[in-house]
Amino acid sequence: MPVERTEHRGADELQRYYEVYETIGSGGFAKVKLGRHILTGEKVAIKIMNKKDLGDDLPRVKLEIEAMKNLSHQHICRLYQVIETSTQIFMVLEYCPGGELFDYIIAKDRLSEEETRVFFRQIVSAMAYVHSQGYAHRDLKPENLLIDEDHNLKLIDFGLCAKPKGGLGYELMTCCGSPAYAAPELIQGRAYIGSEADVWSMGVLLFALLCGYLPFDDENCVVLYRKIMRGKYDNPQWLTPGSVLLLNQMMQVDPKRRVTVRHLLDHPWVIKDYNSPVEWYSRQPLGHIDEDCITEMAVNMKRARESTTALVKEWRYDHTTAIYLLLLSKKGRGKPVRLRPEPTFCDDFSPSQRGLQMGDALHFSEDEDAVIVGSLDFCSEYIDDCPWLSVAQHTPQGVRGQPDGMANNKDKRLASPSVEKRRAYSPTPESGRKTAPRHQDRRDRAHEQTSENKENIAVQEKDVDVFVLPPPRTPVSSKKNARHNKNVLTTPNDNAKVNGGKTYAVTPKGGGSASKERNKRTEIKELPNVEIMTFSPERRSRSLDMADSGKKKRGGKVFGSLERGLDKVITMLTPSKKRGVRDGPRKIKAQYNVTLTSQTNPDQVLNQILSILPEKNVDFTQKGYTLKCQTWGDFGKVTMAFELEVCLLQRPEVVGVRRQRLKGDAWVYKHLVEDILSTSRI
Ligand code: ADP
Repeated sequence: MPVERTEHRGADELQRYYEVYETIGSGGFAKVKLGRHILTGEKVAIKIMNKKDLGDDLPRVKLEIEAMKNLSHQHICRLYQVIETSTQIFMVLEYCPGGELFDYIIAKDRLSEEETRVFFRQIVSAMAYVHSQGYAHRDLKPENLLIDEDHNLKLIDFGLCAKPKGGLGYELMTCCGSPAYAAPELIQGRAYIGSEADVWSMGVLLFALLCGYLPFDDENCVVLYRKIMRGKYDNPQWLTPGSVLLLNQMMQVDPKRRVTVRHLLDHPWVIKDYNSPVEWYSRQPLGHIDEDCITEMAVNMKRARESTTALVKEWRYDHTTAIYLLLLSKKGRGKPVRLRPEPTFCDDFSPSQRGLQMGDALHFSEDEDAVIVGSLDFCSEYIDDCPWLSVAQHTPQGVRGQPDGMANNKDKRLASPSVEKRRAYSPTPESGRKTAPRHQDRRDRAHEQTSENKENIAVQEKDVDVFVLPPPRTPVSSKKNARHNKNVLTTPNDNAKVNGGKTYAVTPKGGGSASKERNKRTEIKELPNVEIMTFSPERRSRSLDMADSGKKKRGGKVFGSLERGLDKVITMLTPSKKRGVRDGPRKIKAQYNVTLTSQTNPDQVLNQILSILPEKNVDFTQKGYTLKCQTWGDFGKVTMAFELEVCLLQRPEVVGVRRQRLKGDAWVYKHLVEDILSTSRI
């Protein structure tokens, strides 16, 4: 088949079955976008990878896909469909709206022992299952654990996993994973047992949950590896003796002395307050066929139940598999096991939930993937109602905060961190804090009041300099390399303002139409001494082209008259809300990735942040009240990408700053954002 046709079909297939929205994350290989499966109406995450960019890493992606096909567990992110073209791979995955466990930890500083236990039991459950299937994960860290809408954890990123042919007891040689979480035997390049190395990483993870920082950390990788191989870390005074003991059992330098996952299942610390071992077997075993889902599919596809069952049982991870698994997921959450009669673009989203206005559904989101068909243009009402954007407030029935997903009323706090806690994280002027990262303070305190873990002290240091891991990722770009952003802006609501004796102009408002933006630019042109910053023209024109072509397609192919009518209703029902979003900061509920400020003027907060970013060598583009930030490494590579958005909170009525990491090392990001926010004195 000619390459072009294959390519076309792959992208077509995605667009035929899914609506694709904005980027929600990116990793070493992939960009991940929010999507919606049209037939079931379920939200999904779409991991997009360019084969060319993958290069030698392509086998890792294949490995990840194969592993995910073989794993089905309540605490592992489910793979629904794989679409491969000659140039791209799309993985359609279970969507986890709560973000990374990493962000949750840093937002709360650290977690209580009780809350840690809820999460840790889920991690043990997932890992016991992974190991029982013969796999080692080998890249366990809080960035690879996502929080779902019920506040339960889902493990992702199996790109580094291994399934030794002779079973998990067989030794592995490949050294991989993130240095700070890597076991000593891995760093030294010795043969190692995958499950034992995973237990070490789980220990580092447990420490990070309980303390909010890493047990082994250093900017100098040689020093870091030495620390890991000596296995010495400090136990801060707030750790209970039980926690100290468990950490010590997990972070044993000698893998043979390390506790096993099997022992963790009913370890006294793990079962405390539960009095039951961790439930690790799969609640959705592979191969199980649900009759309700088959019936619904058979009716929809106008096929016999038997042939529908046979089709599903092929487990091809095509659209049939996706429909079945998404129906199963709906059923699991108590939603009706129903498919839409035919693909429609807009139905069960109520205007308030929809967010995406039909009229401008296809305005461009932000980047270069040819598959983009839209971008969620949030209306404030949508944000308020949206469970996946306000995890802290969400009150799901049934399973949240439960041991391994079971009922537990004790953990309400888990889903709803107190305002005070969040305030504690928020660097305010009153705190008098300047640029010192919060965790640094905490570590300093910890060093004053810690006790070193004793049992590893005896470890010989003879072979501590044998390292095979690559150095840790480069921290935030140095001044020398950072690209200075000349385009300092003022607030979106003022067309031109004097800031420090210099006049600046505003960027077009977020979500505005092309003509609106053109008008705005014309206005600006007439102002003297004005620097204008917009998204690059190339990007914008391309985006609009794509938006247009998408629009035509939708209008012609997907919309029936009924849907077009509904579009009008939606637009008529929400005009003021829409205007509100365009002209001012979004109104959102407090959630854990929002830092509360003590201020009530969003423009002032925005200006304060804008004035600090160049100082911190952070390059940015501004879209309304959202700042898309980047730092650069030595060879002009983006080392970090994140968003800061100034928004309005309702209770308490203050200005907040929403943060989202899109790319880069999680701990470096944490330090940088803390630094920016504390230096901004907001
Ligand atoms: P890579 O394999 O390139 O490292 P990941 O699988 O780690 O990519 O995904 C990158 C980021 O995208 C994650 O850290 C997370 O923030 C986001 N992400 C990935 N999968 C999902 C998902 N299923 N739901 C929500 N966000 C996701």
